[in-house]
Amino acid sequence: MNPSRTSLSLRVLLVEDNEDDRLAFRRAFQGSQLACEITECIRGEEALKRLRTDASSFDLVVIDHGLPGMSGLDLCKELLDNQVPLPLVILTGKGSEELAVEALKAGAGDYMIKDPGRGYLDLLPVVLPEVVRRHGDRLARKEAEEELQRINEELKNFVHVVSHDLRTPITFIQGYSSLLLEQYQDTLDDKGRMCLQRIRASARRMEALVSDLLALSTIGRVVSSFENISCGEIVSNVASDLQDKLGASGIELVVAHNLPTICCDGGRIRQVFENLVVNAIKFIGHTKSPIIEIRCEDRGDFLQFCVRDNGIGIDPQYHLTIFEKFHRLREIEDDEGTGLGLAIVRRIVDNHGGKVWVESERGKGSSFYFILPKDPTGMKLPVTEIEN
Ligand code: ADP
Repeated sequence: MNPSRTSLSLRVLLVEDNEDDRLAFRRAFQGSQLACEITECIRGEEALKRLRTDASSFDLVVIDHGLPGMSGLDLCKELLDNQVPLPLVILTGKGSEELAVEALKAGAGDYMIKDPGRGYLDLLPVVLPEVVRRHGDRLARKEAEEELQRINEELKNFVHVVSHDLRTPITFIQGYSSLLLEQYQDTLDDKGRMCLQRIRASARRMEALVSDLLALSTIGRVVSSFENISCGEIVSNVASDLQDKLGASGIELVVAHNLPTICCDGGRIRQVFENLVVNAIKFIGHTKSPIIEIRCEDRGDFLQFCVRDNGIGIDPQYHLTIFEKFHRLREIEDDEGTGLGLAIVRRIVDNHGGKVWVESERGKGSSFYFILPKDPTGMKLPVTEIEN
């Protein structure tokens, strides 16, 4: 509908071969508050010709089902095929479920029965503006969805291009600094070697940053499939990947036997466990008997997971900020961190309809909790349970 027009006026193209019905249709709007401008066509072919070139002159097309020649439903189909962007209403002498389905399939937004008592005529001034409004809403929603999809696609391409373009020079820097270190050992003095080692370490860090940023930017935008996955299996894969790091720090990993199977995006939830365990290893400090525990509790509609360590702990003043991007507490020498690990965890858990938080004190280890809904479709969070 032309947006400059008021909602109290309607331009209708009426396709009706019966003269009495055309007259009755006109009369239905006399005395109503709705100013209705009615253009008449007797045959479907005539209406099609007109609408192909002049659809913008109308807000709505009302079509009799039993037209001679091209039937009302055929006209609807033709209009749909010709992408005429107007709402279509079918008028029929007798209604049935099959006809209603056929009308909808043919592209009609609605259909009305011309009942013998002609009560339908009183409804026209109410129903037709509503049909136009609903059609406008549908179009606006479709446009917004298409726009969102376009922006998402653009963003995805942008992120890929940027990450690829950044990775190439980083790989060169890493490659050439390694080459210099290996092949020019004798020519370089200690200072030269140290400079090159720093260049190499910075390039490694840059690479980790680019890949974490890429991961963060795709969570939630890339639609992944949810399926039933065993958390026990996820955790055992993570543990075997991190075996060397755990062994090097003499850390015991204790995993509960009751880890459930949940409906989730397995790859992402694996990343959650991995990031939390990697952090637990990194921040274990110099504890005498380092231990990391992974447990799960049933909380009704939710499952509550916990990754606990007895490492350096976190001062309560940082319990919220550590989940923000690039927020790092510089308490230990750690060149590998990017400050994005927990931001990634939070985004993944949010996208599953869950919540993540930490309970910890300095020097007393950390417990990272996250809850996930058992049924990830349309869950509401138990706010009181998780606020702290
Ligand atoms: P990164 O580990 O790359 O620095 P994260 O987002 O994973 O970034 O973590 C942010 C900060 O939170 C870390 O720099 C660290 O200070 C703190 N942190 C995370 N996990 C732990 C933990 N298990 N024990 C102590 N501090 C932690």
